[in-house]
Amino acid sequence: MINVLLQSITGEVFVSLAFCFGLVVGSFLNVVILRLPKQLYAQWKQQSQEFLDIPHSADNGPTETLLWPPSRCPKCEIAIKPWHNIPVLSYLLLKGRCPNCSTSISIQYPLVELFTGIVVAVTAHHYSGQVDVVYAVFFTLLLIALAGIDAKEKLLPDQITLPLLWVGLIANLNGFFVPASEAIIGAVAGYLALWSVYWVFKLITGKEGMGYGDFKLLAALGAWLGWQMLPLVILLSSAVGAVVGIIIIMMSGKDRNLQIPFGPFLAAAGWIALIWGDKIMSNYSSAFSVL
Ligand SMILES: [Zn+2]
Repeated sequence: MINVLLQSITGEVFVSLAFCFGLVVGSFLNVVILRLPKQLYAQWKQQSQEFLDIPHSADNGPTETLLWPPSRCPKCEIAIKPWHNIPVLSYLLLKGRCPNCSTSISIQYPLVELFTGIVVAVTAHHYSGQVDVVYAVFFTLLLIALAGIDAKEKLLPDQITLPLLWVGLIANLNGFFVPASEAIIGAVAGYLALWSVYWVFKLITGKEGMGYGDFKLLAALGAWLGWQMLPLVILLSSAVGAVVGIIIIMMSGKDRNLQIPFGPFLAAAGWIALIWGDKIMSNYSSAFSVL
């Protein structure tokens, strides 16, 4: 049924629809990136207080959920009207300012919307006419949320990494992207690869080089892409991470202990591997067979 529906829509229309869908979902991802960590911190605080028998502090009032309250200006708290909530367009029309108090609106909002629109459109173009497109877009959206949260809060919530892992395994139960056996080995190998790096680094330097969220994210990428893609994902993310890390350290002075989250690089490498991984791998092996 979905198959017939997908095939009946022509390529360009499908990609344009995917772009618009991406813009709207990008708007929701902004809310997830902003609110999910806040909710988690409030929960952890409450649980810690209960565990330590400390009376709840007054600021543990009703926390916001992903759907409530509706978006509002952080300064004057006026509710944002629906026509001020059109992805990217509203930001441009309002010239990046709150219509009530003129506080500037973070450029993060239109950027995440536009970025999500483009990335979803590329994914839809690549998987155009296949049922896999639903899974591939799901994978893409969860990676954007994880990258955004990790970049802002240095946190990869289980609430996103674990569903990503399970859905990857389910998708490959039917061999959508790779055979089930490669997905299962990929999940285990992905976790263990970074887990070993973590412990070697910790035993040598006494410091924690990354978090458990990174292990779970690479496990999820292994579940989606199969174990064969893991070297490419690690290579890509480390190379880009190192370059960006050096630039950030150079720009921010010489603070070598500056923590740069690894999640956004893993997420980007995982997405690139989903779309172009096979091409990169075959070019790579043919380059070697020429030598
Ligand atoms: Zn305002």
